[in-house]
Amino acid sequence: MFFFLAGSKDYHDRLGYVVTTCPECSMRGLFTVEQERKKFTLYLIPAFEYSRKQFMVCPYCREVFEVADEIKEELARKLISQEELTAAIRNGTADKLLLKQTGKRKRLKGKND
Ligand SMILES: [Zn+2]
Repeated sequence: MFFFLAGSKDYHDRLGYVVTTCPECSMRGLFTVEQERKKFTLYLIPAFEYSRKQFMVCPYCREVFEVADEIKEELARKLISQEELTAAIRNGTADKLLLKQTGKRKRLKGKND
């Protein structure tokens, strides 16, 4: 008898943090960026990856947003690592991290934004 054992295994990695404004609750803050990878397994051994998705989680309303492929590169550039964040909190400059990325891409809707 031939027994073919195939399955799937999920991996979750925390990639870092990014400062952005929540489309859901409009709050600006430090979002966690997570990556979910799915691997196809053969006889319980991960063979190849067939899915890779990134998500951002709002710190205020806990809404989860999937990161579109087009903005993954931009997101990767803006990403704040756990080490950077820990260092910023230790130095008391965590607030500056939030301000740092505010000016760059100003939208037209508000002057005090
Ligand atoms: Zn939110």
